[in-house]
Amino acid sequence: MTGPPLDQIPVDRLTGVGPKLKARLADLGIESVQDLLFHLPYRYEDRTRITPIGRACVGDCAQIQGEIIDSGIQFGRRRSLRCAVRDATGMLGIRFFHFNAFQQTRLAAGKLIRCYGEVRYGRGGLEMYHPEYRILSSEAEAGAVPDSLTPVYPATEGVHQSRIRKLVQQALQMLARSEDLTELLPARFLRDFGGIGLAESVRLLHQPPPDVQLNLSGQTDNSPARRRLAFEELLAHRICMRRLKLDALALQSHRFGSRQALSRRFAEMLPFKLTGAQRKVYREIREDLSGRTPMKRLLQGDVGSGKTVVAALAALHAIESGFQVCLMAPTEILAEQHLQTFRSWLEPLQVRLGWLSGKTRAKARKQLLENLAAGDCDLLIGTHAVFQESVHYQRLGLIIVDEQHRFGVHQRLALREKAGGGALRPHQLVMTATPIPRTLAMSAYADLDCSIIDELPPGRSPVNTAMLSNERRGAVIERIASACAAGRQAYWVCTLIDDSEILQAQAAEATAEQLGQALPEIHVGLVHGKLKAPEKVEVMEGFKSGEIQLLVATTVIEVGVDVPNASLMVIENPERLGLAQLHQLRGRVGRGATQSHCLLLYQSPLSELSRERLGIIRESNDGFLIAEEDLRLRGPGQLLGTRQTGLMSFKVADISRDSDMLEQVRETCEEMLASHPAAVEPLIHRWLGERSHYGDV
Ligand code: ADP
Ligand code: MG
Repeated sequence: MTGPPLDQIPVDRLTGVGPKLKARLADLGIESVQDLLFHLPYRYEDRTRITPIGRACVGDCAQIQGEIIDSGIQFGRRRSLRCAVRDATGMLGIRFFHFNAFQQTRLAAGKLIRCYGEVRYGRGGLEMYHPEYRILSSEAEAGAVPDSLTPVYPATEGVHQSRIRKLVQQALQMLARSEDLTELLPARFLRDFGGIGLAESVRLLHQPPPDVQLNLSGQTDNSPARRRLAFEELLAHRICMRRLKLDALALQSHRFGSRQALSRRFAEMLPFKLTGAQRKVYREIREDLSGRTPMKRLLQGDVGSGKTVVAALAALHAIESGFQVCLMAPTEILAEQHLQTFRSWLEPLQVRLGWLSGKTRAKARKQLLENLAAGDCDLLIGTHAVFQESVHYQRLGLIIVDEQHRFGVHQRLALREKAGGGALRPHQLVMTATPIPRTLAMSAYADLDCSIIDELPPGRSPVNTAMLSNERRGAVIERIASACAAGRQAYWVCTLIDDSEILQAQAAEATAEQLGQALPEIHVGLVHGKLKAPEKVEVMEGFKSGEIQLLVATTVIEVGVDVPNASLMVIENPERLGLAQLHQLRGRVGRGATQSHCLLLYQSPLSELSRERLGIIRESNDGFLIAEEDLRLRGPGQLLGTRQTGLMSFKVADISRDSDMLEQVRETCEEMLASHPAAVEPLIHRWLGERSHYGDV
């Protein structure tokens, strides 16, 4: 029996998934049944055996089973519910510091219980704290154990292990009935992975038999089944990028002239001299623009490295060659900021600018579209509205995208769609501040040419970063008061794990109010994603002009805001953010002459890992180094991982863990393209899905 393919069955078709759970699963990147199958456990627990209590060792995770012979509340340093469990070989205590009346009655003497947890040495001998437990109601139940290892999945708030396990079970049943996840790779390529096929790998990873070969830590990293999946995924990405590259080579583009009067005049007008790195990358871009094939160049440079000037130079080059340019930014705020910058830079040079965002009024929009089509607008700046179907250019020669920190294959695919299908394709320049480790850049950007600005403008002193516990909030507020009294400005960044803009906005509002009360003499402004565009602009203007001294913001300010007089930034709960994101945020200060400070106001206690991660931010201002360390510290199953690099979002593969396979992936990719062309489309489709929409990314 075959139904629709598993990647087209939304998760809410599974029993027990309502709108709420659906949204939570989407946060985990799970939208279809196939996504669920590719959502792999990051470790396993062995519950296939019952350990006799007499043989349980301190430090082990064990499953025990026995009779509760005593149960009651103990009052010590902390109140707890403690039960003594006995089997034929010994006695073990289980202890709960959090419990309710219902649990108390259920955990009564005389009940048969099975517990899974870590064995430790407690007040009353061997104990387990908060074990997972089940009261057994029958003999039959007492005899039954699962016949495969119990998977532990990356989870998130509101989606518990048991939930995910049940859903995966359903997905596996659907897989068994379908003909999906067919083998696309020739058997020869699978030899290195013990010849394990795709569907088999998936099943094995979700339900491994107890004797399966796992490495000592009980983790899946090196199991051939996981590596086989990772290999296929990396291969799919690589093939996709190679195809983009090959497609581009077959296309033609406009060839720009050699005049540079405008760009020269612009460079002379600037109040500073271009850095060597800026000149170098502009040369690389000019070379592309004088060629016949469309440029596809990625301009990488740390925050504050001066990418915008380079973009302006490229735009001027296009304009004086008689072409139009469009510059797209991912957010309204950033696009506005660019509009202002380019106005002040380019209007003196008689460049005609246009503005388009999703919020542009019908009348202004109509006028703008007419100007564009008639060639009366040279440079259009805006959000992704600039790519709408109704927008027609007279002679679009160059597309510039300021992505700041996310530019994965999905985004590239979407951009290709937007570039349109005319005979001559516009050139593309993408600016990103995602510093990715040099070692990985080659495979991440296999389809792009890459220019790197590896030098900051002179005169910047690195931001001084300190970590402070939330208990020192009062002292932090005083520092803001004194910075503002000295005529400087500050940011206060509120973070929430929740992706909901509404909740984020509420948190920021509450903080702004508290700070306003604590600092009555200071003018506090507030900006978040829920403000209307004109309101946002007003606040940003107020901050730029210095009228607003303290700007409370959600992470929306991460991108693009440039206020050199701001020299202090407080980031609340920095432990919740990825290192790349923290680095981006911090890049908002340290743009002027005064020494800048960044205070990471963390929630104590801080876990060991968080302490180490934040330590990296404190010690280094080098985006590349931070990215490298970030990769090193990311353990398996850490969800933040792919999100925070933002760059390559894999379902299974992990670019650092699997980097040893990249060479083989490269070779196999060429072979697939040459000898197995029929498998190429389905393979890309399986791992990259439908082309994503630009607005969603
Ligand atoms: P980013 O690469 O993060 O987009 P910007 O282009 O916004 O950086 O530049 C950051 C700041 O540095 C801006 O105020 C810009 O005017 C300034 N800037 C850029 N290039 C130079 C330079 N060569 N010398 C001095 N300041 C510069
Ligand atoms: Mg920028």
